Amino acid sequence: MNTVDYTLHGPVAVLTLHNPPVNGLGHALRTGIVDGLDRALADPAVTAIVLTGGERQFSGGADVREFGTPRSSMSPHLPDVIHALENSGKPVLAAIAGHALGGGLELALGCHFRVAHKDATLGLPEVKLGLLPGAGGTQRLPRAIGLEAALNMIVSGAPQKAATFEGTGLLDQVVDTDVLAAAVALAEQVVAEGRPLRRLRDVNMPTAGTDAFLQFARTNVKAAAKGLPAPLACMEAVADSVTQPFDEGLRRERAAFFALMNTPESRAARHVFAAERAAGKLPDIAADTPSRPIRKVGVVGAGTMGGGITMNFLNVGLPVVLLEADREALDRGLATIRRNYDNSARRGRLTTEQVEQRMALIAPTLDYADFKDVDLAIEAVFEQMDVKEKVFRQLDAVCRPGAILASNTSYLDINTIAGFTSRPRDVLGLHFFSPANVMRLLEIVRGEQTANDVMVTAMSLGKQIRKVSVVSAVCDGFIGNRMLARYGAAAYALIVAGATPQQIDQALERFGFAMGPFRMNDLAGLDIGWATRKRKAAEAGVPHDPVVADKLCELGRFGQKSGAGWYRYLPGAREALPDPVVDRIVADYRIARGVRARTVSDEEIVQRCVFALVNEAAHILDEGIAVRASDVDLVYLNGYGFPARRGGPMCYANEVGLFNVVRTLRRFAAEPGAFDWWQPAPLLRKLAEEGRSFA
Ligand code: NAD
Repeated sequence: MNTVDYTLHGPVAVLTLHNPPVNGLGHALRTGIVDGLDRALADPAVTAIVLTGGERQFSGGADVREFGTPRSSMSPHLPDVIHALENSGKPVLAAIAGHALGGGLELALGCHFRVAHKDATLGLPEVKLGLLPGAGGTQRLPRAIGLEAALNMIVSGAPQKAATFEGTGLLDQVVDTDVLAAAVALAEQVVAEGRPLRRLRDVNMPTAGTDAFLQFARTNVKAAAKGLPAPLACMEAVADSVTQPFDEGLRRERAAFFALMNTPESRAARHVFAAERAAGKLPDIAADTPSRPIRKVGVVGAGTMGGGITMNFLNVGLPVVLLEADREALDRGLATIRRNYDNSARRGRLTTEQVEQRMALIAPTLDYADFKDVDLAIEAVFEQMDVKEKVFRQLDAVCRPGAILASNTSYLDINTIAGFTSRPRDVLGLHFFSPANVMRLLEIVRGEQTANDVMVTAMSLGKQIRKVSVVSAVCDGFIGNRMLARYGAAAYALIVAGATPQQIDQALERFGFAMGPFRMNDLAGLDIGWATRKRKAAEAGVPHDPVVADKLCELGRFGQKSGAGWYRYLPGAREALPDPVVDRIVADYRIARGVRARTVSDEEIVQRCVFALVNEAAHILDEGIAVRASDVDLVYLNGYGFPARRGGPMCYANEVGLFNVVRTLRRFAAEPGAFDWWQPAPLLRKLAEEGRSFA
């Protein structure tokens, strides 16, 4: 495969990388660069070499499609390619347009001269994958732009525009026209003037004052790293650029790169990266399935969710018809949307003009007739089947054929909802998370009859509004809330066993959860669960037997909104304060049930809560509700505050080892009076027996 085009521009050989979409530096491309270089060096008519990726993309770095395959470690490695370019006897220039990221920028740093388009972006984002630049970036970038600037760029991983580097040793020229023409012209000039070749490896780093700076930087990086190893390793590698000879710095950088590759944090970060790429794909739907155009959206219900959902579309310029049951609710909903935007404007995230533009995209209405030309209608009304039925019958009557009808329901059966319409193929669930304008997760719920092009449209729309979309089949609570039910039950059982809400919350927060389950419950409100349990008891014709949460509700303790729940809150404050009243209610509850409180360790808290998630997810996979284990991880990372550094519950289970997970679950299941659901799921048992993981 010819992945590097070789052309002559007079005496200048131009090597054009060709590996769409981002010129990832796969094995064929690495080989092609060295072959092209050797051809140019062997041709006496060639006086200089220009390396370019074309007008749109220099190189996005490693080829992620090669990750984990033998090709990724096949010779020549990227450092070999860079070494060959740097040691060329003829001048080598990089002509950079689009992105030069990671290995792409390291490749350019191996050239003697660099020309970039002013809008090109340059960066070393490896730290975001729990790594450091492993092909000389930490040694050459400081020699190009100075110690402090290089450190900031490598530790943050944030790319910057080429124009920022004008006048530094990183870029010899910044142009706003054709970079290739500019690079060829510079090459000819370099040859004509007999300019010495500038190898960054030969630049001596100034050492004066660096000790104090490095000490100061170490303290800052350590504080910001929050225990992640990669930022500290980046810090030390960049420090080596002043304290070590160049080749020793390179050797140490490479060793640190491989050490980071083997950390759970980097495995988790790379897992999430791959998970996000995989999530958009449905194995049974052809990749070329066309999507339906979405130019106008209708939203039914302007409450907590409807308002947030609406904002997602306004933010990308899509007009929304917003329908409510009455004028008062509509005005309230509109006022909330405006207040949210005004807050963003106050924080400088939007201009007042942008606020007005977005508000002007809303067409508020009380009349379904205004839905006649929407391409997608999303229902976000009360969570009651009879209310959903009324809404969907209306939507079916007014929406044009081909319009997609979606429900934001958290638990209700999408197939039943689809049955209220004459077009079940056009119906699906679009489950947003609260606050819907902020949370990244979107569960796309596929009904039994949902058409393939409806699924494809939903996924492309998810991308447009910058969500992480995960497909779920229909079941009670879909992927996320179904797992959450087990997590909540495990946490609650620990209270009865002897732990306090604050011990459980703190153990899970130390594990890395954004918020423990009881603080979360106080934030969301205890009253909904109370009402549900009473209703379910009534439906089953049995007396309602109140659990601790219900006893709290009986005292008017609904959580933060009523000033008390599992904790107490000072007026106007959000800090959760332990409350002896709760301890007493729990103690009475244990006495009534004949439970003797025992000591619960933090390790047990984490095991029970997290393994309950993992076990339920294994059932979810087995039943085909989720397509792949990494989808489950995305749901928990983006919708439920699971710690990012652990890569999601399934990735964490892989790290612990499924054998160990199963063994622990068996121990929980064998306790007297244990819930049935502690029995390890068949899929989990099978994988553990075969020594495999969810990967
Ligand atoms: P909400 O009570 O805040 O809002 C519901 C709105 O729907 C109200 O403004 C009400 O006036 C309006 N409404 C009711 N019946 C209507 C009708 N027939 N026609 C037009 N408007 C009508 O509720 P919410 O929290 O926004 O929840 C809405 C839906 O989203 C529910 O299905 C819920 O399960 C789901 N959901 C909620 C959350 C959450 O965290 N709140 C998260 C995900 C999904």
